[in-house]
Amino acid sequence: MEIQTKRANPANYAADSVRKPHDIRYVVVHYTGNDGDSARANAQYFATAQPGVSAHYFVDAQEIWNSVPEDCVAWHCGTRGAYYHPFCRNRNAIGVELCAYRDAKGRFCFREGTLDHAAALLRELMTRYAIPVENVLRHYDVTHKCCPEPFVRDADAWVRFQKRLKGEEDMTIYKTWADIPDWARDTVAKLTRKGFLRGDNEYLNLEHNALRNLVINDRAGLYGV
Ligand SMILES: [Zn+2]
Repeated sequence: MEIQTKRANPANYAADSVRKPHDIRYVVVHYTGNDGDSARANAQYFATAQPGVSAHYFVDAQEIWNSVPEDCVAWHCGTRGAYYHPFCRNRNAIGVELCAYRDAKGRFCFREGTLDHAAALLRELMTRYAIPVENVLRHYDVTHKCCPEPFVRDADAWVRFQKRLKGEEDMTIYKTWADIPDWARDTVAKLTRKGFLRGDNEYLNLEHNALRNLVINDRAGLYGV
């Protein structure tokens, strides 16, 4: 897994903090809240601008960028309000920001490639610091901020993502059109329109990994426009 590095401006994190590996006990997942931004652009922004916040990693469907060194404390899940998690704080967590986009209805979504990269990165962090999947949290779980929005709006999607971190196969079956997740809707609509997916729209019975492959093939242009 290739990771690129662009060091954050020291004004955005505790640059003089030094953590030992055993100090790192949580990973907090965030979303950038932007529409179609890139990990690279975020890393570059935080390297120069001084918003006074930061994350260790930025992830999109193309790349993973390291912004703050893991042994330094980044500022991503602190709050002046209430904490809803008893232990997870900036000082013992690694912050990972996922780039997002808005779908046709204006809702934030993650690309499958972004989730693939995130899962690979998180599994590596879990191994390196012996972090159990229970300690991989949404920002929401720490402060109740609506972040990462796609995993707060759709808690089932978060549970499915956690299963990937555990190495469990996702056996979810999308039975009907209403069950088809946002990231696959364009593909399923196209395949149905072209007659590649048979049967009516009522009962599709598409298994999760099969659906992922259809979407990947569609992006590769295998099903035309
Ligand atoms: Zn967040």
